[in-house]
Amino acid sequence: MPRDYYEVLGVARDASREDVKRAYRKLAMEYHPDRNPDDVEAEARFKEATEAYEVLRDPDQRARYDRFGHAGVGRGAGAGGGAGFHEFDLSDALRAFMRDFGGFEDLFGRRSRGGRSKGPLKGSDVQMKLRVTLEEVATGVEKSIRAKLLHRCKACDGQGSASGEPAQCPTCGGRGEIQQTQRSIFGQFVSVRACPRCKGEGTIVTDPCRTCGGEGRVREERRIKVRIPAGVESGNYLTLRGEGNAGPRGGPAGDLLVVIEVEPHAHFERRGDDVWIELPVSFPQAALGARLEVPTLLGSAELEVPAGTQPGEILRLPGEGIPPLGGGPRGDQLVEISVWVPARLTPEERERLEGLADSENFVPPRGERGFWSKVKEAFAG
Ligand SMILES: [Zn+2]
Ligand SMILES: [Zn+2]
Repeated sequence: MPRDYYEVLGVARDASREDVKRAYRKLAMEYHPDRNPDDVEAEARFKEATEAYEVLRDPDQRARYDRFGHAGVGRGAGAGGGAGFHEFDLSDALRAFMRDFGGFEDLFGRRSRGGRSKGPLKGSDVQMKLRVTLEEVATGVEKSIRAKLLHRCKACDGQGSASGEPAQCPTCGGRGEIQQTQRSIFGQFVSVRACPRCKGEGTIVTDPCRTCGGEGRVREERRIKVRIPAGVESGNYLTLRGEGNAGPRGGPAGDLLVVIEVEPHAHFERRGDDVWIELPVSFPQAALGARLEVPTLLGSAELEVPAGTQPGEILRLPGEGIPPLGGGPRGDQLVEISVWVPARLTPEERERLEGLADSENFVPPRGERGFWSKVKEAFAG
């Protein structure tokens, strides 16, 4: 069970947005992974604080959280597997932090490199769009996506060197960083920065691999299987850890972020967990009632249209909608009735309708006073 978000940030329930931001910043600075390398506890606290901040900074999400707790903001119900939508992982947390407070470099005056000062660089995260249909949203789907990404070079096993071992960088002596001493009127300053020659890796390639040119990685198209759970919405994304670009010279791979885009449907419209559809019926069907076969996202279902149904009335097909992300009962299908009026009539049809036109039950009920009485007068006149 996740902790209460207000408790996590240590703010009152009526705290202002500024208070929330200030409280989060303080915690994030304390527990940031760059400050606490390889500290699992600090990483957990950092993620927890960021998750709380992400909800409480957004007025809509905060209102939902206040009303429904963690369930209102998609927490609690586990989506299962390593790449769940609700799982707030470290890369999400770091991105959220960067978005509002900038790079860590700006805050601590050093380069943010995931806690390491030396060694191979991490590959970049890659973001990909994945279009799904509303039918696929209703059932969940497994998709195979094609991605042209950087993968570890097989010829040199990612080392970048044709002969095998890369050489120690002579500029920094293999340390990956260099010290610079600057004199000023205030005295001597010693600053440490990443070595410009090896870019912090500590090694250089003297005999580049022919396949990758010394990069240790090559661009290749591969297929990746992605399981999309039912109930996703546009903008939801799935984080596939380590499926992004490989790092140069054996560096760890970044993440692949699969961002969902739900295609607009020609007939159905999503309304939360419900789906809406307009159903034109004939005048006799609306007046007499009918059992009709109605298309649904899962196939079709029988709908009972009661006698005397008015245009604009909404009938429900329970359980024919979309399940909430993370599980739970499906929403409903809302069927809005419209009455179709024939544009052409045969002489016999015309005659039969004219016979009904003056019939008492065929005159819409209208007040005698005001707007409708004037309409009546105009027709009568
Ligand atoms: Zn170097
Ligand atoms: Zn290579």
